[in-house]
Amino acid sequence: MTAPDGLPLKQRIVRLIEHGGPMRLSDYFALCVSDPDDGYYMTMEPFGSAGDFTTAPEITQLFGEMVGVFLVHAWRTQGSAANPVIVEIGPGRGTLMRDILRTVSRLAPALRTTAGIHLVETSPRLSRIQKETLRDTGFSDIRWHESLASVPDGHTLLVANELFDALPLAQYVKLGGAYRERVVRADAEDRLAFGLGTGVLPSTALPDDADARPEGTVFEIAPAREAMMQAIARRLVACGGTGLVIDYGHIVTGYGDTLQALHGGAFDDPLAHPGKADLTSHVDFDALVRAARQAGAHVAGLARQGEFLVGLGLLDRAGRLGADKTAEEQEAIRAAVERIAGEGQGLMGELFKVLAVTGKPAGLQPFAPAARPSGDGRTSD
Ligand code: SAH
Repeated sequence: MTAPDGLPLKQRIVRLIEHGGPMRLSDYFALCVSDPDDGYYMTMEPFGSAGDFTTAPEITQLFGEMVGVFLVHAWRTQGSAANPVIVEIGPGRGTLMRDILRTVSRLAPALRTTAGIHLVETSPRLSRIQKETLRDTGFSDIRWHESLASVPDGHTLLVANELFDALPLAQYVKLGGAYRERVVRADAEDRLAFGLGTGVLPSTALPDDADARPEGTVFEIAPAREAMMQAIARRLVACGGTGLVIDYGHIVTGYGDTLQALHGGAFDDPLAHPGKADLTSHVDFDALVRAARQAGAHVAGLARQGEFLVGLGLLDRAGRLGADKTAEEQEAIRAAVERIAGEGQGLMGELFKVLAVTGKPAGLQPFAPAARPSGDGRTSD
């Protein structure tokens, strides 16, 4: 699909640069992922074997079940508020919410009629797929929103899996002692290339050791991610509740160029196929923690995905799921557990992190050292 002026995204970006000068990387990223006509999530099928990437809920139902166990535990620990709202931002195909709701309805059946289910999604195409996936959950009140701002008030149980990596980032490169903003230029043949703009990152926005780093060092910031985290945190402070952010990234702010593009399942030049390739970068969880705290929220925990899932009882649940299955099915479950919780190349357990934020201070499993959440592992298939 192309925009009303008939030009595909790449040509429109070249035109914008011709008229307005070099484009900030964060603006380029935003156009690539969310342009209403040609943005990646608006037009492409990112998920599954034919797509560019596979997310944990698309690998196994166990992932969403563990998230469901956690959310019910967080809700009970904080007083089992009446009429909570269960929110997912960036629900993809709706698979994670489907698995969460199946688990919630086993552990806390009353929530089928008392909880409001709210999906925040910017892509009309994916919203349609989510509606299909969530047709028969048994929950009476499921609604869609383009922004978190329109989700009604209420004690909030929120999850966002692989959302933050898809929100725009900016990069700064150290040159002549200053960190200058990376921009996108167009050459005489309309080819896109990186350059450096005039914008300089103030030292207050840089880590303490930034001056000591060598020339050419890349430092990334993501104001759009921090703004999203603050919107979540403000809501948790105002309404009460718990937010769970899961993504690939690092626990401590660092340096380096982590921007990556995937096209047809393979790594691609981030400037080669605007809107056709999936653009992401590592999430800086340190920056999200600071953003959440600035908004008055509390950090209940930050852990590697493997620790989080195993701490919630992933292995017991996998054993139960495989109990009456064939050897082949058991092997598939074992491989899926390894993929989402294992450590090392190609596995998600270490690379992915889980951040739990609450409106009021709360000790939550598996972060706080105590017994596992009650009800753990008693979900059905
Ligand atoms: N959570 C899903 C999908 C992750 S892909 C899973 O784990 O499988 C990222 C999702 O975020 C897509 O659904 C995309 O359309 C959505 N998205 C991207 N930017 C968004 C924004 N600003 N607000 C809400 N959703 C957004």
